[in-house]
Amino acid sequence: NPVISLQDIEKHYRIGDQEIRALRGVSLEIHEGEFVAIMGPSGSGKSTMMNVIGCLDKPSQGEYYLDGQAVSKASDDELAHIRNHKIGFIFQSFNLLARTEAVENVELPMLYAGVNAKERRRRALAALEAVGLANRIHNKPNELSGGQQQRVSIARALANDPVILLADEPTGALDSKTTTEILSIFQQLNDAGKTIIVVTHEVEVAEHAKRVVRFLDGQIIEDSPVVQRRLAS
Ligand code: ADP
Ligand code: ADP
Repeated sequence: NPVISLQDIEKHYRIGDQEIRALRGVSLEIHEGEFVAIMGPSGSGKSTMMNVIGCLDKPSQGEYYLDGQAVSKASDDELAHIRNHKIGFIFQSFNLLARTEAVENVELPMLYAGVNAKERRRRALAALEAVGLANRIHNKPNELSGGQQQRVSIARALANDPVILLADEPTGALDSKTTTEILSIFQQLNDAGKTIIVVTHEVEVAEHAKRVVRFLDGQIIEDSPVVQRRLAS
């Protein structure tokens, strides 16, 4: 069974008396262990798609099942619960709490999920170690490089062992060397079985994925496997 099943999704925005069809009959299935890059020009519907997949926004029409659960029928409270337990979010600008140590940033989603303090700390330290930040746990974001901050946010995204990792331009704020480091973390996570969906403009990011889904004008115009870069390089 697919982890994500989107059937005939429509998302409409109304601005004054104008209606924008940001998603037009989009259907997509993603299975456990996939690594999918979502591409397409500005305004093609990528963010809208991420908001729907991430349960930040409900589709105007169509069915969405995440891990077997009917998201399109969920209440706002249920959506918040699904977001916190099933999805790990990674953003271009990291979205870390500024005055808060790395380890506490990583603990936050577990706090919301009701995990006890001892277990929170144990899991946060394991997640930070997994992204190579065991020696930076007490640093605040402004004491860390961009790549280190993104690694904290990856650790935070992993905290509740989500069904999917959802990353929106995760390397958009990073230089090319740091981009490569972050991509190798994604690669390791995917090799270990984590399902990853990443919105990106960058070819290097898409080359790490196994599948590219390309949007144009609110529709999928291409859905194809990535020829494995590692064979060539
Ligand atoms: P909220 O999250 O409170 O719904 P948003 O920040 O998404 O609000 O949007 C606020 C308003 O700005 C929306 O009502 C919408 O009309 C407009 N808006 C937001 N994003 C876009 C966009 N990408 N294109 C056009 N209008 C937008
Ligand atoms: P992308 O992420 O590919 O740049 P978006 O999903 O942000 O595309 O936008 C798709 C279309 O929907 C665009 O025409 C955009 O202006 C519109 N749009 C996106 N969000 C909103 C919003 N909150 N309110 C109104 N229009 C929006």
